[in-house]
Amino acid sequence: MNSDSLKYLLWIAAVAALIWLFYGEQIDNAQAPVSIPYSEFKRLLAGGEVAKVELRGHRADIVLNRAVAAGPKKRSTERVTTILPPMDDPDLLPGLERAGVELQNLPSEEGRGTVLFYSLLPWLIFIGIYWFIWKRIQSKLPGGMGSRGAGDFLSGSAKEVRHEVPNVTFDDVAGQDNAKREVAELINFLTNRERYDRIGAETPRGILLMGPPGTGKTLLAKALAGEAKVPFFNISASEFIELYVGVGASRVRTMFAEARKRAPCIIFIDEIDSVGRTRGTGLGGGHDEREQTLNQILAEMDGFEGHEAVIVLAATNRPDVLDPALLRPGRFDRHVTLELPDKRAREAILKVHTRHLPLAEDTDLSIVAAGTPGFSGADIKNLCNEAAIMAVREGSEAVCMRHLDEMRDKVMMGSVRTLAIQPDERHRLAVHESGHTAVAFFLPNADPLYKVTIIPRGRALGVTQTLPEEERHTLCEEYLKDRLAVMMGGRTTERVLLGSVSSGADDDIKQASALARAMVGRWGMSEEIGPMDVRESEAHPFLGREIAQPRLFSEATASQLDKGVRSLLTEAEQRAETIVVKHRPKIEQLIAELEVQETLDRSQIEACLMAAEHVGKETEQKVS
Ligand code: ATP
Repeated sequence: MNSDSLKYLLWIAAVAALIWLFYGEQIDNAQAPVSIPYSEFKRLLAGGEVAKVELRGHRADIVLNRAVAAGPKKRSTERVTTILPPMDDPDLLPGLERAGVELQNLPSEEGRGTVLFYSLLPWLIFIGIYWFIWKRIQSKLPGGMGSRGAGDFLSGSAKEVRHEVPNVTFDDVAGQDNAKREVAELINFLTNRERYDRIGAETPRGILLMGPPGTGKTLLAKALAGEAKVPFFNISASEFIELYVGVGASRVRTMFAEARKRAPCIIFIDEIDSVGRTRGTGLGGGHDEREQTLNQILAEMDGFEGHEAVIVLAATNRPDVLDPALLRPGRFDRHVTLELPDKRAREAILKVHTRHLPLAEDTDLSIVAAGTPGFSGADIKNLCNEAAIMAVREGSEAVCMRHLDEMRDKVMMGSVRTLAIQPDERHRLAVHESGHTAVAFFLPNADPLYKVTIIPRGRALGVTQTLPEEERHTLCEEYLKDRLAVMMGGRTTERVLLGSVSSGADDDIKQASALARAMVGRWGMSEEIGPMDVRESEAHPFLGREIAQPRLFSEATASQLDKGVRSLLTEAEQRAETIVVKHRPKIEQLIAELEVQETLDRSQIEACLMAAEHVGKETEQKVS
């Protein structure tokens, strides 16, 4: 019997049960004795025609023994029923005894439907609440899962397993050359399976793609399937985790079973860390559903036969929290790291995402690439799209450099803010930003300037932007010291020119202190600490934030560390001050220009400071 016929049978049974429940009683009632008024019953009792009374709560079933009209000796037996009065009749029992009526007291009997109804009521309420919650959960499920029936959902129905042969190829993945090279060899495993079988070589089973968010892990997995022209099963591990324990494991089973049917193919599990975290570490006994799902993934991967060309790719940006069992040989034993793109890769990604856009003549993607350090592929895609939207909004026929520049600033610093700034505050802002700009301009190892602005954006009131000409992989001491001096340049210029400092240097001091702490505590760039590791936190490789580490050094070392940091910051301030004092007239000219223009680009900055540049660099050499 298939599931459809079973479903119909169940429906018929349910309808029959309902009919019996509601009409069965009426059918019974049709054959029930005639009901007579209580007064009639009393009259029959008085006339000696009642032979037997059965009391059932407030109902009395009566057996009559009446004389038949045909003859005084002939009598007939008849059953009738009556409802007793709500107030007890004190004459009833004595009257029955006097007439010698057989009396039987029986438990009261309610209708079968009523009894059934009351016994089923708690269940009906429970099923109703369950159904209501279930509907609500379904309506919130992603990917159209809400349209599935509850039964399908609980059993992890095959309907939800999404797969397609993607039309994405490696050409769509710009940069990431190492990662592409590593996964490219899998194409051969998928398309030339027999060759491996002949020799008896086992297919790699699991590949873990690691990297910061938006670096193209999903895109790369898709491109692999697109290149090999095989089905691509894509699921986010967080979709496995459901309200009910066991549902996730069942869905894993369904997905792997479906994938096996369609081999050769690729399964891609995004955010594997959401089920693959080290087991047994959760407070309160861990998370059963998550652990069962993880165990099922491991079991499925172990269960692959040598000839099954199913490759499982998983992506994460938290490899540090993954359960070691996931990473052992035979499971996700190959690791491919995707990095944030460098300048060359950013330019390539920009080309991919602007290839369908009409670009104006003035657009120079290499400048945009240079100005977007730290952007992921997803950020760059977003930047291109935002620039295109801006061009449409302005009624332009093409995307020009200004659109890309504006959107870059928006992504990096937030939108332009309308703020009522007092004239003296605005002047101080111009002094502060001109200070950063001048110090960056005159120091020999500082990054080249890109632009300076006093238009408030995001959380910043003004910004001085520098653009490294080439990507730096190691940072030398001279460069870092110049960077510290540039950070201190704003506050120092305020002090020299206005005679006081302000809270505007809040972020500068924070960043400079963090950099100086790294120079002293990690990179051995101070005499106080020397080449000793005294870090208190570790940068997460992919998430770009610091994770606290246990302190492994003494209080005495900690105070030496503070001393080293303070001396680097003081030295940076002194170096900035030397430049500001030396070039004060040029800096004042820059301040005036900035107050008028609000934003100055590289050439405008150079026009203000160029005449002093030569002298400046010489002076700086003497200072250092
Ligand atoms: P997450 O870790 O957040 O899941 P991810 O690493 O899987 O992110 P994707 O979803 O693959 O990142 O990338 C998002 C989008 O960014 C892609 O669809 C693609 O358009 C763009 N992108 C990312 N990297 C690249 C790249 N190297 N080349 C071209 N486009 C890219």
